[in-house]
Amino acid sequence: MALKVFKYGEEVLRENSIPVDRVTEVHRQLMAEMVETMHDAGGVGLAAQQVGRTERICVIDIPPKSQTDEEALYNAPVPMPLKLVNPEIIHQEGTQLDQEGCLSFPKIGGELVRAEFVTCQYLDENNSVQIINARGLLARALQHEIDHLNGILYIDRMSATERLQYAAKLKKLAKANGGVR
Ligand SMILES: [Zn+2]
Repeated sequence: MALKVFKYGEEVLRENSIPVDRVTEVHRQLMAEMVETMHDAGGVGLAAQQVGRTERICVIDIPPKSQTDEEALYNAPVPMPLKLVNPEIIHQEGTQLDQEGCLSFPKIGGELVRAEFVTCQYLDENNSVQIINARGLLARALQHEIDHLNGILYIDRMSATERLQYAAKLKKLAKANGGVR
């Protein structure tokens, strides 16, 4: 079942997530529904707060075709869709500047700097610790989703000049969804 996607303005997007002690059927079900919701909405990532939850869980699915050949090759060992419980970035390197969007911000995209390479540690749905190395778009998605889990939104990472371009749209969107900025 696809879930409701919470938009900018909703309080839950600013909440910190709560780490999961042990992954159970409840979490597996939630992750399956989050993957379905992400696919339905045409997104490449979704965090628990975006479906109104606060478990430290996110999902990511990056099609190889939306990556450069170099990225696709580097990221090939990573299983998709990714279901991440308690994800943390344990190492990051380099920088990349690119466009980024978010399902909680319909029709608002902007350019921002992220690390080019990240190493992420997480629990998979069978409670095993996993470590992945990612670059490019997948690295960007991991940083974006883990930010969500800490109540941080991509607009917070934009330069002031970049964010100013979207000021009116952001104000309107927040107002329509509860007003929390
Ligand atoms: Zn997002």
